[in-house]
Amino acid sequence: PETITIQELANRMSERAVDVIRLLMKQGAMHKITDVIDADTAQLVAEEMGHTVKRVAESDVEEGLFDTPDEDADLQSRPPVVTIMGHVDHGKTSLLDAIRQANVVSGEAGGITQHIGAYQVTAPNGNPVTFIDTPGHAAFTAMRARGAKVTDIVVLVVAADDGVMPQTIEAINHARAAGVPLIVAINKVDKPDAKPERVRTELLQYEVQVESMGGETLEVEVSAKQKLNLDKLLELIALQAEVLDLKANADRVAEGTVIEARLDKGRGPVATMLVQRGTLRVGDIIVAGTQWGRVRALLDDKGVTRQEAGPSFPVEILGFSGTPEAGDRVAVVESEARAREITEYRERMKRDKLAARGGSARGSLSDMMS
Ligand code: GDP
Ligand code: MG
Repeated sequence: PETITIQELANRMSERAVDVIRLLMKQGAMHKITDVIDADTAQLVAEEMGHTVKRVAESDVEEGLFDTPDEDADLQSRPPVVTIMGHVDHGKTSLLDAIRQANVVSGEAGGITQHIGAYQVTAPNGNPVTFIDTPGHAAFTAMRARGAKVTDIVVLVVAADDGVMPQTIEAINHARAAGVPLIVAINKVDKPDAKPERVRTELLQYEVQVESMGGETLEVEVSAKQKLNLDKLLELIALQAEVLDLKANADRVAEGTVIEARLDKGRGPVATMLVQRGTLRVGDIIVAGTQWGRVRALLDDKGVTRQEAGPSFPVEILGFSGTPEAGDRVAVVESEARAREITEYRERMKRDKLAARGGSARGSLSDMMS
C-alpha cells in the first residue's frame, strides 16, 4: 500500500507538520513527525486542510517507459551478453582479461582497451559477443533484484585443481533461478594437479551434466594463463547464442541497464550502459534511477566516440546530471520535463521509503541490518 510520512505530506502541502499532527490528533490518532500514514488518511488530511489531491500512481508516471511490445517483424538478431561466474580464485578475471587481450589486434588504433565494465569481442564466426566485466554474484544479484535481466549466458569457471566449491554452487543456482543457460569452462588445465574429470563428476551432483557425460551443457577445458582454447569458448558461446535465437528491435528508442557508474573528476558522472533494445543516440534524453541527462557523448570499450549504440552494445555515457547506480534501468524519454517528472517522483518515493524505515519502529530486523 502507498504510504507517506507526516513530514513529507506537510512539505508537499506547504503546511507545518505540527498542524498535520494536530489535525490527526483531533481525529484521535497520536503521531510523530516521522510517522508513516497511509495514502487514504493522507488524502483526508489534505482535503481537510483545503488542498486538492491528485494521487499519482507509479504506473502513471512510469507509464510506457519500459517493455512496450515490439512487432515480431521488427526483431533482428543481436549479440549474446555473457557473464563469467565461479568460485573466488578460479580464474574469472584472468579469463576475461585473456579473452579480451587475445581479441585486441596488436597495432590496432589505440590498441589500449578502456575499463568500462563491459566489452565486446568478435567470435570466430565473425559475430560479436558482449562480456560483462564485473564478475561476481553481487553484481548479478543486484541487477536481478532491480528487475534487470542483463545476461543471456553464464560461463561457469571451475578450476580443475580445486573442483566444485561453494560459489560454484551459488553460481549454478543463480543461473538456474534466472533461467540463463550455463557453459562450463574448466580452467587451469595447465596445472600438473588438474583433474578436469573430477570437475565433471562433481557437477553431476548439482544436476549440471556436461556433454561428455551424456548431458546437454556445453563445456570446454581452458587455461587463462596459457590462453588455451579461448577461441573454442567463444565458439561455444556463439553456438549457444544461436540456440537461444536472441533478438531485439534496433529501430526504436533505447532501453537498457547501467552496468557501472562513477563520478569522474574531469568528465563528471560517467555511466556504462548495456543497450538492450533500440538504439541510443547522442542528444537523447535519458533517465536512470533518480538521475537523468542528455547524452553528450558515447564511447565504446576502446575509448572511441560513437554517434549511436544498438542492442547488446555496451557504451560509456557522458551527460548525466548525477551518478546513477549499477543495476538502474535506463530509458529514453521525449523531453527534459518528462525526465524531471520521473526522476523527481522516484526521488520522492525513495525519501518516503527511507523515512518509513527510519521513522517507524516497526521495521523488521533485516531492514535494520541491511
Ligand atoms: P578470480 O578470483 O576468479 O577472478 O581469479 P583470478 O583470475 O584472480 O585468478 C586467481 C589466480 O589463479 C591468479 O593467481 C591467476 O594467475 C591464477 N590463474 C588463473 N587462471 C589460471 C590458469 O589457467 N592456469 C594457472 N596455472 N593459473 C591461473
Ligand atoms: Mg577476480
